[in-house]
Amino acid sequence: MGVGNKRTRTKTRNHIRDLDQVKADLLSPKHLAQYKDTKLTEDLPGLGQWYCTECAKWYDTEASLVVHRKGKPHKRRVRQLREEPWTQKEAEAVAGLVTDNEGHERRAEAADAEMEMTT
Ligand SMILES: [Zn+2]
Repeated sequence: MGVGNKRTRTKTRNHIRDLDQVKADLLSPKHLAQYKDTKLTEDLPGLGQWYCTECAKWYDTEASLVVHRKGKPHKRRVRQLREEPWTQKEAEAVAGLVTDNEGHERRAEAADAEMEMTT
């Protein structure tokens, strides 16, 4: 039924604005306003009041936006935005080697397990 691969479904559902678009948003309020104008306020969670610019996501309450801004996905995103824009060459070099950020977490877990064994 539909897309059988869970990973593909997850990635599709989570798709948000591209990093270069968000960078333009951060640099230019006008650019961001143009993007927001493409959405109907009534359709947005919390009537579009609680927006995380970095993640290009709306939240329905201030509390959930605050929680989001403290969270890992947001911090990961901010870090990505601080890095230099990717060139096509870099993207090609990385393609196939790195799937997603989950890889880092899995490696960190493995390192922790190793430490527990040695102590
Ligand atoms: Zn965010």
